[in-house]
Amino acid sequence: GVALNIPDKQVDSVCPYCGVGCQLTYNIKDNKILYVEGRDGPANHGRLCVKGRFGFDYANHPHRLTRPLIRREGVPKTGDFAIDPERVLEVFREATWEEALALAGGKLKQIRDTLSPRALAGFGSAKGSNEEAYLFQKLVRTGFGSNNVDHCTRLCHASSVAALLEGIGSGAVSNPVMDVTKAEVVIVIGANPTVNHPVAATWMKNAIRAGTKLIVCDPRRPELARHAHRFLQFKPDTDVALLNAMMHVIVTEGLVNQDFIDSRTIGFEELAKNVEDYSPERMAPICGIDAETIRYVARLYATSKASMILWGMGVSQHVHGTDNARCLIALALMTGQVGRPGTGLHPLRGQNNVQGASDAGLIPMMYPDYQRVDNPQAQARFEQAWGVKLDPRPGLTVVEIMDAIDRGEIRGMYIMGENPAMSDPDANHARAALAALDHLVVQDIFLTETAYLADVILPASAFPEKTGTFTNTDRLVQLGRQAIDPPGEAKQDLWIIQQMACRMGLDWRYGHVSEVFDEMRHTMNSIGGITWDRLEREGAVTYPCQHEGDPGQAVVFTETFPREGGRARFVPADIIPANERPDADYPMVLITGRQLEHWHTGSMTRRTAVLDALEPDPVALVHPLDLQKMGVKPGEVITIESRRGQVALYARADDSSPVGAIFVPFCYYEAAINRLTNPALDPYGKIPEFKYCAIRARRGGEV
Ligand code: SF4
Repeated sequence: GVALNIPDKQVDSVCPYCGVGCQLTYNIKDNKILYVEGRDGPANHGRLCVKGRFGFDYANHPHRLTRPLIRREGVPKTGDFAIDPERVLEVFREATWEEALALAGGKLKQIRDTLSPRALAGFGSAKGSNEEAYLFQKLVRTGFGSNNVDHCTRLCHASSVAALLEGIGSGAVSNPVMDVTKAEVVIVIGANPTVNHPVAATWMKNAIRAGTKLIVCDPRRPELARHAHRFLQFKPDTDVALLNAMMHVIVTEGLVNQDFIDSRTIGFEELAKNVEDYSPERMAPICGIDAETIRYVARLYATSKASMILWGMGVSQHVHGTDNARCLIALALMTGQVGRPGTGLHPLRGQNNVQGASDAGLIPMMYPDYQRVDNPQAQARFEQAWGVKLDPRPGLTVVEIMDAIDRGEIRGMYIMGENPAMSDPDANHARAALAALDHLVVQDIFLTETAYLADVILPASAFPEKTGTFTNTDRLVQLGRQAIDPPGEAKQDLWIIQQMACRMGLDWRYGHVSEVFDEMRHTMNSIGGITWDRLEREGAVTYPCQHEGDPGQAVVFTETFPREGGRARFVPADIIPANERPDADYPMVLITGRQLEHWHTGSMTRRTAVLDALEPDPVALVHPLDLQKMGVKPGEVITIESRRGQVALYARADDSSPVGAIFVPFCYYEAAINRLTNPALDPYGKIPEFKYCAIRARRGGEV
């Protein structure tokens, strides 16, 4: 009767949630995770946040999909539904793997052969391993026959990556998060680390205690602002005005690092000319920050021995997201605040493997390692490696794929581990598009809102049920190890992808996951030196790591940038307003994002007992003055409406949002806020404007 909670097994792995990449140990008994402990990994040194520590029991949730499902004849695909997992067998019938795979792959093959390879598309997942991402994009490119493959990086940092590739030749971070402890000045802009990268936030707080000056810039007041040396609560949508004003100060006051500009960059003259018009005095009324504060912060950043910039979705999710990131890059370049410890540019990556999934080629314009599909040499290299002819035309991105379904150009899709019915902007449209497909195959662990619209559902494995590598926001490739077995007939994702490949006519025979990793490292120079043995031994290796024995490089761009001539490029930006501004009909602004306790579309964390108990209901964070104006008390229901849809949810008084702006997390299926968001795209990164659209709100409604 005693010792009920003594584990019979301990397995070292990593956290399945955010890009910080905390290492942890699963404590197992009878194929069940009892509890989780932090391990001494490079990114966390034993620390874990509430998600990493308590967010594991979703794997044992009774809603897990345990058998393949096939949609029943004649059941309509409606985009408007209330998910009731108890009634799943009214919509789907159970099938054997053989029957489900034959239908799933067979119909995709038929569409490819009778219509066109470009009538198919696939979404992989930043929650899957590098090996899964690699095989998935390889399946789309070699089996479907086009580059129509993308994933949720398109919704988070696509604009940052576009600006980084253009400006400094690499889309990944220049320095690890931990470098905040080596910086004199740290700017955190458009990010809420205590919520979205909680353990990273603890390192920031440690740095502050040791003397680092933190500057927080954000239209909403994040918790970290309490610890900041200065907090700049600029008006939503005015990033470029603020950042150009800072650069104006640095240029006009002679605070630039001329040696760095001369020896390591191009295009400074044009940039300097462009910021001439952006004096702090002119920009102050636009961005809402007084000129003296802008001057003070610009001087502080430029003149410190080591200044670092970290940013999040507040920068990237705008129609001018690429411009926002261009300004941050220009700031770092003109002051030479890059290429040394404690400096640099760090786009905080969201998902635990969004860096790795992008590196592995889960993007429509790039093969693995950011080799462009329209570059003939890269094409030849992969044609040789994979033994097939490849389509040189870049594929469509996430939102473009939904639009192509409307036009009848895409007829079949394979979606692995993503939930666009919840995560895409204008979700009513996304749901209608998914429902309009001739054939939709979804591979997931739960009946997600997307899976509900599928023709075939393939039950997959949860994070602790498989082994693979995951790349964190610091470019650290880490080993996640299988701790428990998948339930029922659920299968490992790598096996399912291969079975799908075989049904598409490919002959794939990967055995162990290490065989996939080995193929990857032979096509990707950046990880060429990382062997599976070394990962088994060390658990984590930073790339670039080009040769075996190479220790890996945590700080990059020390001597040169991976661009033509080794030089970085300044790209000027001007103010472009949000696509949909408030007006008389829709006078308020909607900002979407995440909550500490829930992850993305909620499919995992809302099925986690502790996390769901902490945040059980859909909430909108509304300024107390706006609540007063609406005649609403905290806790009452409000209805929010945009031109695209409406939701009802509970109002929470929160003065961190500015008056006139409402913040809503996108994890609640009952109040799927992306029904309201605007699908307008940044022209370079093709990222939607999740951080700004026009809404109205009123008292009442039904949750
Ligand atoms: Fe997991 Fe991120 Fe929390 Fe670390 S900070 S435990 S990686 S969710």
